[in-house]
Amino acid sequence: MTVLKFSPSVQHHRANDEGTEPTPISALHQEVKSLDLPQRARERAEEHAFNAVLTAGAVLAASFIDTLDRVVRPITWTGNPPLPENQLMASAVTYLGSADGQRGWWLHYTRREVGFGEDGDLVHVLTLIAPCACGTYITVELVDEDALIVMLDELTTPPGAPVDCDFRLQVRGAGWADTRHDSTEPPF
Ligand SMILES: [Zn+2]
Repeated sequence: MTVLKFSPSVQHHRANDEGTEPTPISALHQEVKSLDLPQRARERAEEHAFNAVLTAGAVLAASFIDTLDRVVRPITWTGNPPLPENQLMASAVTYLGSADGQRGWWLHYTRREVGFGEDGDLVHVLTLIAPCACGTYITVELVDEDALIVMLDELTTPPGAPVDCDFRLQVRGAGWADTRHDSTEPPF
C-alpha cells in the first residue's frame, strides 16, 4: 500500500498556477451532472431487492431452522424494490404451493421500523399468506418458529388448501391489521 503524503498547500498552489484545473467543487458538480440518475435509481432499487432476497434466506436459516429453512429453496425468492411512496421497504416473496393449483400459500419477507429516533430499529417481518375459505387471503405474521409450528399443527385443512375464515390464528396475529383479508386478488 502506498501512503500518499498529505500536502494540500502544494496542490492548491499548483492548480492556481496552471489555471486550467477545476476546483474540487466545480469538478464535483461536473461529476454529478454526468451521472445517469434514473439508471442509478434503478440500480439502487435492484440492489435493495437483491438484498431482501439474501436477508430473507438468512432469516430462515437463523430463526426457522427446523421448518421453513428446510423447505424453501433460496433460489425461489423473488425480490421487490422498496416503495418509498407507500413507506414500504424492499421485500421478497416465495410461493409455497397450493392444493387446487389456483389459490396458493405464500411467504413474504420485509423489514419494518419500530420505535422512533435513537431508539428506532429495523426488525425482520415474515408473513405467511394463505387463501381463505371466503375467497380472500389471510395474512399471519410469524413471530417465531414456535408460532408457526403451533399454527400448522392446529390446522385441519389439507396442506396448501384454503383455511377456515374464522381461523383463530388470525386472532393470534391481531395487533397487525390483516389488510389483505378483503381482497380476492392473488397477493403476488
Ligand atoms: Zn375469510
